[in-house]
Amino acid sequence: MRLSQYFLPVLKETPKEAQIASHRLMLRAGMIQQSSAGIYSWLPLGKRVLDKIATIVREEQDRSGALEILMPTLQPAEIWQESGRYDDYGAEMLRVKDRHDRDMLYGPTNEEQVTDIFRSHVRSYKALPLNLYHIQWKFRDEVRPRFGIMRGREFLMKDAYSFDLDADGARTAYNKMFVSYLKTFERMGLTAIPMEADTGPIGGDMSHEFIILAETGESDVYFHKDWLKADLLAEIDYDADLQPFVDKFTSIYARADEKHDPATCPVDDADLMTLRGIEIGHIFYFGTKYSAAMGAVVSGPDGKNVPVHMGSYGIGVSRLVGGIIEASHDDKGIIWPDSVAPFGVAVVNLKPGDAVCDSASQSLYDQLAAAGCDPLIDDRDERPGAKLAAMDLIGIPWQIVVGPRGMDNGVVEVKRRKTGETREVSTEAALTMVCAKS
Ligand code: ATP
Ligand code: MG
Repeated sequence: MRLSQYFLPVLKETPKEAQIASHRLMLRAGMIQQSSAGIYSWLPLGKRVLDKIATIVREEQDRSGALEILMPTLQPAEIWQESGRYDDYGAEMLRVKDRHDRDMLYGPTNEEQVTDIFRSHVRSYKALPLNLYHIQWKFRDEVRPRFGIMRGREFLMKDAYSFDLDADGARTAYNKMFVSYLKTFERMGLTAIPMEADTGPIGGDMSHEFIILAETGESDVYFHKDWLKADLLAEIDYDADLQPFVDKFTSIYARADEKHDPATCPVDDADLMTLRGIEIGHIFYFGTKYSAAMGAVVSGPDGKNVPVHMGSYGIGVSRLVGGIIEASHDDKGIIWPDSVAPFGVAVVNLKPGDAVCDSASQSLYDQLAAAGCDPLIDDRDERPGAKLAAMDLIGIPWQIVVGPRGMDNGVVEVKRRKTGETREVSTEAALTMVCAKS
């Protein structure tokens, strides 16, 4: 991508309305633009990151055996009346009428919709286990949308729904998602703590929130300090028995605020940490709550019809963009982990128009593109200082700076955004460094 032909509306001033780092940086880096309260447009740079995060989520869902579908954003009110949630959901639900005066709603979640799909097609336990997921926009008319896309009204969520014959089967499905979440977040450079949580309006018996630690988080988290030392992910195969692995995680005390009770907490004060965190995922097992209400039954091995056991599993895909920035930034800007960076490497041509710089930059760019390193070339007619500051702001993990002085000596400067470390090397060595690690 050529920056001279790109749309990157970076802001010089710090936007006053933004209270937390991720919101400020997303606006300054030209990633998003507010449309109305809690509703945003995603500009090219933001869209690239959102897509990269969605791709990691999708790959790990697929690997766990879940199947991707796509359900609509607008849902008919009837299915929510069947489950009993149409009235319960209250003012957070955006309700609309179509031209025939039919009640519809912009989905805040999809338990009813997916249960309706299931009951239309599945009759026998032999079709189980089944896990269907989609990545789709949700709308919740939050009382206080804030922190940019972190608590939006319209936001992108991955939501998966598992169907099993009995509680044991549902437990296996739950464990798969539990493991898949840990892998997903680890690939994004995040340490996520799964914490026992309340099930809230979705209802049910078993639930974990996945939290990343950040001062600006909205959740209080209580956990044993050993959490920070836990060696998270070995090679785990989804076909193995995941229960011991899940037990290992859940045995170390970690609770969301609603679940923590100082009176019964088994952890000594000296070992208990209380910090703020951002909820990036939430999984629930809720048994037959929706299947019984909506008639999603299958015939079991004995020929009798039983309602299926279900779970639902959400990841805040758009919230993760902000969450990753909260976890990884400095006073110069964003520091993207390689796996979700909008571009893998920026070739910064300090003197566009200079024949030697132009041809060296172009040749580096072509080779990086051919090697699949997802390069950006800064060929804008701007001051060198402004260019370097922009690359730090938008957080590109590697920068290769091509300038006339270096060219005289046959070298370029390679900078790693994360450490700030720079090295002067030949163009060949620069390619090896960047492509080996990104
Ligand atoms: P919260 O407690 O933050 O309001 P929730 O419990 O209402 O979240 P879930 O229904 O479990 O959220 O949704 C699954 C995931 O979707 C959450 O873990 C979170 O990452 C994300 N999410 C929920 N609400 C929002 C929102 N308003 N804006 C952005 N992401 C959200
Ligand atoms: Mg929650």
